[in-house]
Amino acid sequence: MADPQERFDIILKKLKESGHKITPQRIAIVKILADSQGHPSVENIYEHLKNDFPTMSLATVYRTVLLVKSLGEVLELGFPDGSNRYDANRPYPHPHVICVKCGKVIDPDISGLKDMQKEIAEETGFEILTHRLDFFGICSDCKN
Ligand code: ZN
Ligand code: MN
Repeated sequence: MADPQERFDIILKKLKESGHKITPQRIAIVKILADSQGHPSVENIYEHLKNDFPTMSLATVYRTVLLVKSLGEVLELGFPDGSNRYDANRPYPHPHVICVKCGKVIDPDISGLKDMQKEIAEETGFEILTHRLDFFGICSDCKN
């Protein structure tokens, strides 16, 4: 897991370097993205901040998250129902485990992914550019 403070600094630096304004709202959104281990949705971030920033809209949060995504600093986990989740801690492709009951999303530590990618490339002749690997199940909290 990356250091949240380090991730915060990197994202803010990239925003500045690409000529974007650093507003208190943007700082707060980036802070939540960098701190979060729980793969928040745009709605989660908005709920966290709406009391501190009463004039901020959901659309503002959405645009800021997409801006950070365009800088390559957050991984978007898209779902067909639009309940997208975001990971700024590991902004590169990696596997996820998703609870179908409560929506919890976790990063499992698994080995063998590199081998799998190599095997797939060899078998299909593809040059593999990226991957998406989700495991769906019921988490230990929801099982009880
Ligand atoms: Zn669950
Ligand atoms: Mn993740």
